[in-house]
Amino acid sequence: MSSDCLFCRIVAGELPAAQVYSDSAVVAIRDIAPQAPTHVLLLSRKHIPSVRDLTEADGADVSALFAAAARIAAQEGVSPGGYRLVVNVGRDGGQTVDHLHVHLLGGRPMAWPPG
Ligand code: 5GP
Ligand code: ZN
Repeated sequence: MSSDCLFCRIVAGELPAAQVYSDSAVVAIRDIAPQAPTHVLLLSRKHIPSVRDLTEADGADVSALFAAAARIAAQEGVSPGGYRLVVNVGRDGGQTVDHLHVHLLGGRPMAWPPG
């Protein structure tokens, strides 16, 4: 836990968020500025700044994020139609919060290439 990290504080329950799912490795919340009808952020409970910092020791945390995403997509009703998982990495990747998270976007067709 990093006390100056927004998502660590949400995971710890110190800051409010609309939680949709939680397990031993993941907390999922609704994005405060949704970019699609369904926009859920899956936060690792562990403070890992970004994909750039991952090591093999984080394998279980990464697989837990994807497994949770599949469950939440089903829960949200977007699984049959399809959805998009996005992980922004670093400034050019569009990352604004330096705590590992996966965006789950669904409920509308997604464009390609992404912006
Ligand atoms: P990034 O740009 O790092 O990939 O994603 C960060 C996401 O966090 C953005 O989509 C942004 O809207 C969302 N966000 C930022 N602050 C908060 C907050 O306080 N609560 C919630 N629920 N989402 C937030
Ligand atoms: Zn953090």
